Amino acid sequence: MPIDPTLPYDDDNIFAKILRGEIPCSKVHEDEWAFAFEDINPQAEVHTLVIPKGRYVSWDDFSARASAEEIVGFVRAVGKVARDKGLVEPGYRMMANIGAHGGQEVPHLHVHIFGGEPLGPMIA
Ligand code: AMP
Repeated sequence: MPIDPTLPYDDDNIFAKILRGEIPCSKVHEDEWAFAFEDINPQAEVHTLVIPKGRYVSWDDFSARASAEEIVGFVRAVGKVARDKGLVEPGYRMMANIGAHGGQEVPHLHVHIFGGEPLGPMIA
């Protein structure tokens, strides 16, 4: 069920619970600004999610409210996760769904990293 991006941040969303260690995940990276873990329902050979540690509903919320430090820290973490997974050559895809039309289901910003195989053209 896509989220309503106008709702305030929900501290009980599943990624907030993962961040607090209340539910398990397959963790691949953690630093001051970001946390990364494997998607539970992978859509490619590699499908990893990177989330900011701050309470941001979506990319829209993050890009409007996050500090410069948070933004730099998060962007660097996304790049590092992809590099550490050896995806830079031959390449990978990153994506964030935003709101109902974007098909966002979890109301905590997450960047999807897809790779490990040829992904073909972008599809909706
Ligand atoms: P989105 O549609 O962009 O909100 O993507 C949500 C993603 O979260 C989907 O790819 C799900 O497979 C993934 N997901 C949902 N619950 C979990 C979980 N507990 N651990 C890891 N990934 C999850």
